[in-house]
Formats: sequence, structure tokens, C-alpha cells
Amino acid sequence: MISRKKLIAGNWKMNKTSADALTLVGDLVASIGRQNDVEVVLCPPFTSLEAVGKAIEGSSIKLGAQNMHHEGSGAFTGEISAPMLRSLFATHVILGHSERRSYFAETDEFINKKVLAALKNQLRPILCVGETLAERESGSTLKVVQTQTERGLDGVGKDLAAGMVIAYEPVWAIGTGKVATTEQAQEVHAFIRGLLTKLFTTAVAEKVRILYGGSMKPANAPELLAQKDIDGGLIGGASLEARSFVELVTAASAAR
Ligand code: PEP
Repeated sequence: MISRKKLIAGNWKMNKTSADALTLVGDLVASIGRQNDVEVVLCPPFTSLEAVGKAIEGSSIKLGAQNMHHEGSGAFTGEISAPMLRSLFATHVILGHSERRSYFAETDEFINKKVLAALKNQLRPILCVGETLAERESGSTLKVVQTQTERGLDGVGKDLAAGMVIAYEPVWAIGTGKVATTEQAQEVHAFIRGLLTKLFTTAVAEKVRILYGGSMKPANAPELLAQKDIDGGLIGGASLEARSFVELVTAASAAR
């Protein structure tokens, strides 16, 4: 079995001015800037990408964006393209976050265009999938996750698929303090890996990192990260403070 390097990504969402971002990233570089056994990715707001990118230069920390447009340039007021992100040395981009799906009406088809554009521009997509509470309660979790994964990955070739990151984020657990049980999370992660085997190959499925997201905190992380198919975390609230984020990276390192 291939061992996958754990990945901890911080999604700062619409938080932190550039000045606040610099304080946080300074603390993170000082404590985990030489962390090599866990891949660490920071996803600040667009306004802080450049400053954070400069602050992590020379460290092992990587830069990600929270969204992007699928076109390379043009009349798309308010949008940011993959080449723009690349010019700031971003390596990752979160796509299809449930907040984008629900507040900005992003569809699977639209998200898929972004996935393809990101890969074409050598950006590693972190494709978010996950069910709402109503969907879980009606027993359609796996169906929802399957549809979002299949549509999100439509047209992705086997050669590039292994570079994808999938984040399973049950919508009811995001920012709510409610965390999926380890059994609930592992069940869906294993299901996604099985799906990747069907869509691509076993070798590809074994390489793709599948992150858990939804109120992951230092207290619940060790148990989640110990699961066979949980390869890291996409962290919202707990990524806004150096101490909790560092503890999560430490937990991921211990779970290797
Ligand atoms: C997220 O928004 O991706 C997330 C997982 O948020 P939180 O950790 O705050 O639940």
C-alpha cells in the first residue's frame, strides 16, 4: 500500500487583513516552517496571497487560494484566474467549497470547469464534496458525494487525477462545532477512494489525498487522522489561530 503524506490546509475564508495575515503567518513559519513530514497549505483571502506568499518563501509551507475562475482572463469583474494565482506562486486552490455552492450558487458543472482549468495551469485542486444535514438524514450521503465527485472530476485524465486532493466536508459539520464521528468520516472516505478506483485506477485512488473538513480541532484530530482513508484536514476555524493550527499539524505528523 502506498503511504500518502498527510496534508493540513488552512482555509482562512473571509478573515484577516493583510496585516493580521502577516502576524499569523509569521508565527506559523516560526513553528512549522520546517515541517517536512506533513504538507501544510495556507489559503488566505486573495488580498493577502502575495504577502503570505512572500512570508513563506524558503519555508516548507505552501500557498493556496480559496477559489478561482475557469477562464484565464477577460471581462469577469471581481474574479481571479489560475495564471494570476500561479504568478503569486500558489500551488493549490480550494474548489467547490460548500459555501461557494450554497451562497454563490456554484454548480457541479461550473466547479468542474475550474478543476480542469486549475490542472491545466499546474494548480492542485482541493475539490470539496459533502452532504447537507437533510441529505444525511434522508440516507442520501453517498449518492450526493458520488455525484459531486464524479461531476467535479469529469474529463480529468488518469495522468492528472493522482494530483487531485478531495476534501470530504459534511456541510452540517462546517463551522458548527459538530464533527462527524470517525466511523461516519471513514465510511465516506473509503467510499470516495472506491469511487476513484472505478473512475481511474487503484494506483490513482491510492495516491489521491482525501481530507476531512468540518470542525476539526486538536481534540478530535488524532482519532480522525488515524483512520485509514483520512489523509489530512481542511481546517476553517482552527486555522485562524497559530496555536490550534500548529497542534493540528503536530497531530498529523504523529498520525503518519
Ligand atoms: C471549512 O470551511 O472548510 C471548514 C472545515 O470549516 P471549520 O473547520 O470551521 O468547520
